[in-house]
Amino acid sequence: LFFRDAQVNLTADHLLDGLLTAEFSYRSCRSRYEFGSYHKNSSHKPSPYLLSKLRKQEALQKRCGPGTPAYKNALRRLQSSDGAATGVEDGDCRYLVNISFRGLGNRMIAVASAFLYAVLTERVLLVHWGKQDAADVFCQPFPGATWLLPRASGKRSPLRNLDDYGGESKESLGNMLQSGGAVVVSADGNVSWASPRRPPAYVYLHLSGGYGFHDKLFYCGAHQRLLRGVPWLLMRTDSYLVPGLFLTPPFVGELEAMFPEKDAAFHHLGRYLFHPSNAVWRAVTNYHRANLAGAAGRRVVGIQIRVFDKKQPPQLVLDQLLSCVRNEKLLPGIAASNDDAVLVTSLSSWYYERIAAEYGGGVAGGGVHQPSQEGKQRWGDAAHDVKALSEMYLLSTCDVLVTSGFSTFGYVAQGLAGRRPWVMARPSPWEEWKEGQAAPEPPCRRALSVEPCFHSPSYYDCAAGRDVELDRVRPYIRRCVDVSWGIQLV
Ligand code: GDP
Repeated sequence: LFFRDAQVNLTADHLLDGLLTAEFSYRSCRSRYEFGSYHKNSSHKPSPYLLSKLRKQEALQKRCGPGTPAYKNALRRLQSSDGAATGVEDGDCRYLVNISFRGLGNRMIAVASAFLYAVLTERVLLVHWGKQDAADVFCQPFPGATWLLPRASGKRSPLRNLDDYGGESKESLGNMLQSGGAVVVSADGNVSWASPRRPPAYVYLHLSGGYGFHDKLFYCGAHQRLLRGVPWLLMRTDSYLVPGLFLTPPFVGELEAMFPEKDAAFHHLGRYLFHPSNAVWRAVTNYHRANLAGAAGRRVVGIQIRVFDKKQPPQLVLDQLLSCVRNEKLLPGIAASNDDAVLVTSLSSWYYERIAAEYGGGVAGGGVHQPSQEGKQRWGDAAHDVKALSEMYLLSTCDVLVTSGFSTFGYVAQGLAGRRPWVMARPSPWEEWKEGQAAPEPPCRRALSVEPCFHSPSYYDCAAGRDVELDRVRPYIRRCVDVSWGIQLV
């Protein structure tokens, strides 16, 4: 298909049932309006309320984003050395800076979480991608406004060395609460700034795995009210916080209205926010055309193999996969007479070779395919990221998904696809594989929903003042099949 801007009639399919705005030009970013034609059968429709919130957020990003007088003003106040004139008045713009880190999957689920928090708290979302350039892999999601945080100019700007913030930072909510002084806790559990007319110019939110008790008070209503008056929030996370926001009292009503189908939160947020750059999309569509597109009725089975511990013997991982696909009858038709195809993604080529050998040398039916074999994970390498993102999107076009537990790479693929995967159990990334360790039984389980798992929820119920069983609090929050201490929207 070739579209010229003037001729394109954007339909509900292009716009994903109104999720996307028609304000962009068609050719500025091919994936934006072509994604729909590769993902025809989403059964989830975004609610009208979600759509109205997205349009409202787009207007906010336009009014307050980089390049506007409001942004200049907010930046000047943030950087003014005496820290004077802080706090926000009605109508002032407030900001949420997302500090990205780790692999692409982690970054995407974290940005989606930060975006939703920005919508809920009426803040402008600005993304700090780190050393790489996010523009290598993604187009802009907001019309007429950038979502990328401009490089900080002032020497003493709190936005200057964002990658240095961590659990020890004295500006973190957790440390402010722990050291006292800045925050006053009243007898009824309410929290307020010690100097009420002058909340700090910015607060750092440390929300990455392994964070402490005081950092986790972020999920309390009282602490959310405290943060409202802070003009700039800097958030560092690698996690899918959305189930945690569904447990934060002031957000519950809004979230339930935005997502009548709770299990489609990332499906909508991810399809709204992420639009592969033309370089990535070219890789996706060329590969798809050459290897995966077939006769009508062809099924493509996507297999994502992610191994965290090099000591885990590949043969055991392969055996687990093969018993999963046999038990669940996921690959019955990969024979010469059948057109079905298999897409394998992995850093290693070994699994692909064995699966291909298992299924007629990979030439039977629609064949067995692997787009790349990168060997190992690389940082700050644009060509590597282009491959990784294109493979997440290729997986998302598959009809059946088998993924590796714990992997955010797989979460993104299943979320974009709107398909519940079969998940193979994995030892956690920080757990060592032990010699003679028994094979997981069963080899795979069906995920309860298409939602990513939140690996590091807070179990603390702020009102009750004690830990609770999170899967008993709301009917739509359950434990994940791959991470026993994680929670998932269902
Ligand atoms: P996670 O570590 O599995 O949760 O996923 P992340 O995406 O956060 O980090 C893993 C990174 O390793 C990816 O972003 C890629 O850079 C690389 N990687 C892992 N698996 C694959 C794969 O199957 N294909 C490609 N091309 N890269 C992969």
